[in-house]
Amino acid sequence: MKPLQDLVRKNILSLRPYSCARDEFKGKNAQVFLDANESPFNSPYNRYPDPLQMYLKERLSELKQVDAERMFLGNGSDEAIDLLYRVFCEPRQDNVVAFEPTYGMYEVCADINDIEYRRVSLDAHFQMHADVLLKACDARTKLIFICSPNNPTGNAMQREEVETVLHRFDGIVVVDEAYSDFCDHRPFRFDLDKYPNLVVLNTFSKAFGCAAIRLGMAFASQDIIGLFNKVKYPYNVNTLTAEKAIETLGDITKIYQRIILIKESREWLMQAFSMLPCCEKVYPSDANFFLVRVTDANAIYHYLVQQGIIVRNRTNVALCNNCLRITVGAKAENEQLLKALRNLPS
Ligand code: PMP
Repeated sequence: MKPLQDLVRKNILSLRPYSCARDEFKGKNAQVFLDANESPFNSPYNRYPDPLQMYLKERLSELKQVDAERMFLGNGSDEAIDLLYRVFCEPRQDNVVAFEPTYGMYEVCADINDIEYRRVSLDAHFQMHADVLLKACDARTKLIFICSPNNPTGNAMQREEVETVLHRFDGIVVVDEAYSDFCDHRPFRFDLDKYPNLVVLNTFSKAFGCAAIRLGMAFASQDIIGLFNKVKYPYNVNTLTAEKAIETLGDITKIYQRIILIKESREWLMQAFSMLPCCEKVYPSDANFFLVRVTDANAIYHYLVQQGIIVRNRTNVALCNNCLRITVGAKAENEQLLKALRNLPS
């Protein structure tokens, strides 16, 4: 890996971050807070939250087995994706590399930040090849995005290929494991010691069932997390979100039970799909969704909308001609979807 200071934008290296009232005063014994222009009424929501969410991070640290200092929390993992660009990529000069098809926000954030986005195709089995990704890089490549399990294809990438990229790329490798709770592979967050250039993304939006609270996580070296903290909005995670997250972590057994249930339902639903006349191929999945190739994705998508059932039409996405992406739902929802498809007019 290049020295971190050679990867970070110069203006971010020299940035003097905003210092909020809660940063300045960190003592425990004070009872009178007249430093932040807050209202004295409507406690506890009258107070600004902890800018670094230390209590929540410590709880998460036990669960994720990652030190709180190596953890960034944000408004969804989308915030971490945007921060990666703002910290590392100089507009109109740097570029990033990702395979396609993959999660759309990597490209949207590149466009917003005016960064060249280089795409490399996955193979016919939706697998990535380190050589092909690395060949697309040059001296101005700052980030490589690896989504695993990948959205929209559903499969996890082969570990050796990801490791090769981590070894051979001298910039930052972002491994987005939003769906890793549904996958049997060892998560990459356990390899932070081995790879100083690794950033792993996790989220509360999938297995944790909390998409509405907007809470995402990034795990990386303390130096990279320090840069995120320097650039983020001062109070980027609000108190209501932090409270709900702590409540959710209080019943982790329920989350694990639901993950098992979703994985079982996924296998059942994929099997049922493979028997449908409209289904041409069901792709393997390590996530809480799967991709299917159907006879006519546009027609089937619109037919399902008329039945009040919404799936994701991916037919215009690279390598996904006539493909629909199906999220595994509750039992009754899955059955309703299958019933509608069995009654599809020919
Ligand atoms: N990464 C991937 C691969 C995703 O599919 C999504 C959401 N669909 C996200 C990140 C963003 O998740 P969040 O809700 O945490 O912003």
